[in-house]
Amino acid sequence: MGTSYELKDLEDLTLNAKQIQDEVLKEILTLDANTEYLQRFLHGSSDKDFFKKNVPIVSYDDVKPYIERVANGEPSDVISGGTITRFLRRHLKDNDAEKGKKMMFLYNRPESTTPSGLLVALASTSLVKSHYFSNRPSKCNSEYTSPDQVILCPDNNQSVYCHLLCGLSRRDEVVGVACPFAYALVHAIDVLQSYWEELSSNIRTGHVSKWITDLNCRNSSWEGILTRLWPKAKYIECIITGQMAQYIPTLDFYSNKLPIVSPLYGSSESLFGLNMDPLCKPQDVSYTFVPNISYFEFLPVDHKGDIVDLVDVKLGCYYEPVVTNYFGLHRLLVGDILQVTGYYNSTPQFRFVRRKNMVLSVEIETTTEEDLLKASARATLVLDQSTNLMLTGFTCYADISTFPGHYVFYWELKAKDVNDVVELDENVLAECCFALEESFDALYRKLRSQDGLIGALEIRVVQQGTFDSLMEYFISQGGSIAQYKTPLCIKSSEALALLENKVLARFHSKKSPPLDL
Ligand code: AMP
Repeated sequence: MGTSYELKDLEDLTLNAKQIQDEVLKEILTLDANTEYLQRFLHGSSDKDFFKKNVPIVSYDDVKPYIERVANGEPSDVISGGTITRFLRRHLKDNDAEKGKKMMFLYNRPESTTPSGLLVALASTSLVKSHYFSNRPSKCNSEYTSPDQVILCPDNNQSVYCHLLCGLSRRDEVVGVACPFAYALVHAIDVLQSYWEELSSNIRTGHVSKWITDLNCRNSSWEGILTRLWPKAKYIECIITGQMAQYIPTLDFYSNKLPIVSPLYGSSESLFGLNMDPLCKPQDVSYTFVPNISYFEFLPVDHKGDIVDLVDVKLGCYYEPVVTNYFGLHRLLVGDILQVTGYYNSTPQFRFVRRKNMVLSVEIETTTEEDLLKASARATLVLDQSTNLMLTGFTCYADISTFPGHYVFYWELKAKDVNDVVELDENVLAECCFALEESFDALYRKLRSQDGLIGALEIRVVQQGTFDSLMEYFISQGGSIAQYKTPLCIKSSEALALLENKVLARFHSKKSPPLDL
């Protein structure tokens, strides 16, 4: 195990990064000196220069055979000086996603008073009006398909209709159907029999029938839902940089812009860095590398120049980190691109730029993950200005099955107000396509507008729930929700087929992006 650290030690650590990094490497090399893997290159030496000269920089596939040997029962010292007791998969199974909702028929009736002024209410009314009910812990998990507004509606005709509407529109999530006494359920089924056509049409059009006049039933925007349900919440904590940046507008909408704290940058191989300015804007997050966790080296992205130590990186430059950890991985390429943004004491800080291999290309242009996120933020502004829709998920791929090839974006859209229908305006979506194209680099715009080698960008709007299905697909391949990151570019043909099956409408850019901006 690496030296343990606490936040109070961070000052010391970051002041002495160079010395600590050298010690870390020495410790690892001493520990691992006699492993089969390192013996091949170092013959027992723990000298830093010798290490740098002789130990190759590798990808996971290069070390996989060694890891598999240990997994199959050979001793740990094939790769690690310490005892290996478990392996961390990049993704772990997590079955929490299986939880569903109850379609619960609960009602409220107006109370009356006795001649002496005491309240008279049905027991079920007392329950749903009680403090206990409105503050029940399970409310946080939205355990019912209906919101409390539907339960509390004093007109039972309207509420049974709305219960059915909510239950039907979220029917994929329903794992139980419930009511206090059986009659209420039989009654609900009668109502379903009489009204199913109207209910279906409400769902299809996204409009609730006019005779539902109870405003609380009609009006259920989800804007700021997090702060409404958990009024004491002061912040959201989750990694929001890199691929996750696409969710900033969605989380802002649901939380009324609570600060988002992106705490750390790490991977299964090692923790890399901590965010020392937790309340800064997501766009400004940098991570300070923690020098005593692993030994870090940095490969310049343009490959001009040598691999350097943590303390030797240059401000503003782009690097791919290479990690040597305490668990038998030596000089492993992490596959991320980082930019040096500053220093915390003497320790460099980095901005996460993108995954190395996530690029989209039809011709010779390269559109990176970072470019995609920037373009998407711009297109979202167009959507925001002209519609009541929000983008809840996107991914894309380069379609080169026809000439010229073109970029295809899959967009999942949602109405900000639950009662609003997702209306797709052809002109607005064409403008969104244009906004995406306009923000790509000069080479893209030239290939597209001047050379005709890239075709008009296309947005394919997919059904709601598509990105959940995509996640489920990736999880079924051995992923976990906790570590799931929606891929910004899709390469897998199975995943593409899944998306294609959910396409509702297609829109193309109607004009070419300008060459000069
Ligand atoms: P995993 O080992 O599956 O947890 O994935 C590790 C990868 O997640 C890293 O190599 C990064 O690509 C990504 N990642 C982890 N932390 C961050 C972060 N703070 N910002 C952006 N990407 C991150």
